[in-house]
Amino acid sequence: MSAIHSSSTKPELKLRRALWSLGFRYRVNEKRLPGKPDIVLPKYRTVVFIHGCFWHGHKDCKYYTVPKTNTAFWTAKVARNQERDQEEWRQLEAKGWSVIIVWECELKKAAFEETVGRVRDEILLNGEAYRSEQEERRLFREAWRHMRKIQRERESALKAELRKG
Ligand SMILES: [Zn+2]
Repeated sequence: MSAIHSSSTKPELKLRRALWSLGFRYRVNEKRLPGKPDIVLPKYRTVVFIHGCFWHGHKDCKYYTVPKTNTAFWTAKVARNQERDQEEWRQLEAKGWSVIIVWECELKKAAFEETVGRVRDEILLNGEAYRSEQEERRLFREAWRHMRKIQRERESALKAELRKG
């Protein structure tokens, strides 16, 4: 399946450049994450996959037409890819990553600007959600430490009380 994760296709480069010029910083082809996402934005806890319309079976897309010969073979192949995509997606979300899928047809000239806008908005939204989650966790840890402190103080006060008898 090297066709799917082949390194940097042209539309992918275009999208990367557009995101870079919007100020986003990212890593590419992060091998340690499930599915080796094409673009990884750690600050926003977001990954982007650029999916070829044929290989990943873009529904109702003119670039996804099953060949007239070996139809069953191609249908099964695409179905397997889709299953794998979903499994990778599930694993990433379990690790707290948000997943953005961009179809190659969405990076064609006529749709490009709109797609970049959509991706930008999603990244920003994911980043906000990530930050507020982090903040919630921080507040929770703080509250927990505070409770432990009060508990310890009570315990030692009680011990002192008992010693006094
Ligand atoms: Zn498509």
